[in-house]
Amino acid sequence: MNRRSERLKAMLEGLRASGLRLTPQRVAICEVLATSRNHPTAYDIYRRLRRRFPTMSLATVYKTLDALVRLGLVSALGDAGDGMVHYDGDTEPHINLVCLSCHRVQDLEGVDVRVLHQRIAARSGYALQGARLVYYGLCPDCQRKTEASIAEGA
Ligand SMILES: [Zn+2]
Repeated sequence: MNRRSERLKAMLEGLRASGLRLTPQRVAICEVLATSRNHPTAYDIYRRLRRRFPTMSLATVYKTLDALVRLGLVSALGDAGDGMVHYDGDTEPHINLVCLSCHRVQDLEGVDVRVLHQRIAARSGYALQGARLVYYGLCPDCQRKTEASIAEGA
């Protein structure tokens, strides 16, 4: 079983264990979170599923997200300069990159933060449950756009 389907399974089991009924809407919300690489906001998830579930409310999305965050199965990331909370279905320690101009949130692959995690656990004595490692700035696309507009004298 791959990591995505493991994540999905953990989310569904967690919701069921906390007494939430596994409605098709909630299962679909978990699917988006388990498979999405782009760190959706509650509204992104709502918009993505609205056509499939026309009666689903934004409140259902928030309620499901809250339960998953409380269970430690989804991370609530800070806003990406857009005032919105972004959600991450990957709770393994990893680095998120946030662009303050286009508000995209992406994972940085290839930098292993497990050593950092272990060191922090050892030094602090904390039973760590998760980590938010957010680096922010301008993504390469937005840097090019900024340079282009400077060159045009805009
Ligand atoms: Zn950008």
